[in-house]
Amino acid sequence: MIINAMNEQECRDFLLRGSIGRLACCLDGQPYVVPVYFAYEPDYIYVLSTLGQKIKWMRINPKVCMQVDEIASQSRWESVVVNGTYEELPEPQYAAERTHARTLLQKQYRWWLNALAERQAKTDEAMIEPLFFRIHTSSITGLRAEDD
Ligand SMILES: Cc1cc2nc3c(=O)[nH]c(=O)nc-3n(C[C@H](O)[C@H](O)[C@H](O)COP(=O)(O)OP(=O)(O)OC[C@H]3O[C@@H](n4cnc5c(N)ncnc54)[C@H](O)[C@@H]3O)c2cc1C
Repeated sequence: MIINAMNEQECRDFLLRGSIGRLACCLDGQPYVVPVYFAYEPDYIYVLSTLGQKIKWMRINPKVCMQVDEIASQSRWESVVVNGTYEELPEPQYAAERTHARTLLQKQYRWWLNALAERQAKTDEAMIEPLFFRIHTSSITGLRAEDD
């Protein structure tokens, strides 16, 4: 097996194909990682969420990291790590960005399901407030493992 660095364009192409990433945030020296669906376009990663721990933490410390991978086998995989800054997209000032995020995210089947159903299970409230955010990317690196 050989492991090579992916160049920036390969990383970007990989993120355009991807849909699930592990989003890491950090507060008071404590990291917190959760899987989320995302949509990428240079230089932003868009996510639909609801209010909870990750949002509360990212509002305080907007420096975040996301890891995305495709694992075909133990010796054939790709992994991309993105660093960036959390930007919440509240209404009404970010109405255009929210529409754009929705357009990108809805290319995935039932794109809203995980964000909203997860919250629904924890609350009696019938109406759950959707919350859009994006990560302004500052660096992207990638590694690719291939068979010899
Ligand atoms: C495949 C997949 C796709 C998902 N896509 C999205 C998405 O697009 N948007 C979205 O908002 N959420 C998504 N989720 C759910 C997401 O991973 C979080 O569970 C959810 O967003 C709640 O996070 P929170 O910080 O608001 O947690 P809170 O509801 O505030 O949770 C409090 C505590 O619950 C625990 N917890 C929360 N989430 C998880 C978890 N995933 N695994 C284990 N323990 C947990 C943690 O200990 C945390 O401290 C997805 C999950 C999966 C598996």
